[in-house]
Amino acid sequence: MKKRVLFILAIAALFSGACSDDTIEEGQFLALTQQEKNDLLFFREEEKLARDVYLFSFDIYKDKIFSSIASSEQQHMDQVLVLLNNYGLTDPASSERGVFENQVLQELYNELTAKSALSLLHALSVGAVIEDLDINDISLFEKKTEKTDILEVYDLLKCGSENHLRSYTDRLINLGEDYVPTYISLEEFTSIISSDRERCGQ
Ligand code: ZN
Ligand code: ZN
Repeated sequence: MKKRVLFILAIAALFSGACSDDTIEEGQFLALTQQEKNDLLFFREEEKLARDVYLFSFDIYKDKIFSSIASSEQQHMDQVLVLLNNYGLTDPASSERGVFENQVLQELYNELTAKSALSLLHALSVGAVIEDLDINDISLFEKKTEKTDILEVYDLLKCGSENHLRSYTDRLINLGEDYVPTYISLEEFTSIISSDRERCGQ
């Protein structure tokens, strides 16, 4: 099962790699490239994936780590939505929990909630995997745009993800469990968890 989850995560990480340089005219803002558009739409649902998985885990374990990080993910979703609205993109995010337009994210949600249901430890390590993936994906997105309004949001949400990764790994360490990063390098992971939490956007 672990292998399968990792495989699907790898597909999710690659998904945003589909590349095209077509330019689309949207609203009064500078035109987005097809790549920027794909990344923003994917990112909006990727933040929803984090929120919905953590809400799922909160329902089972009633552990505040999940509800507090889920509310931060709601803010991340809102921040991406502002960009979608500014650029006239149609929001792909369903108002229903656990429902995704992107089928890769839908499968990932199904896998990660199944794993999270096994135990609190599993749910915490799923949290760390999601943040690990998010940080890695944001770093990839950042390389594919030069628009400062988009880069500002990426930067802010990456800062938040790093705090979330610190929270999940702290809890895992307290419970005697290690987390080994799957997406970001061990070097980057070590530098994140050995530094203090940041106040993002200030
Ligand atoms: Zn987030
Ligand atoms: Zn997060």
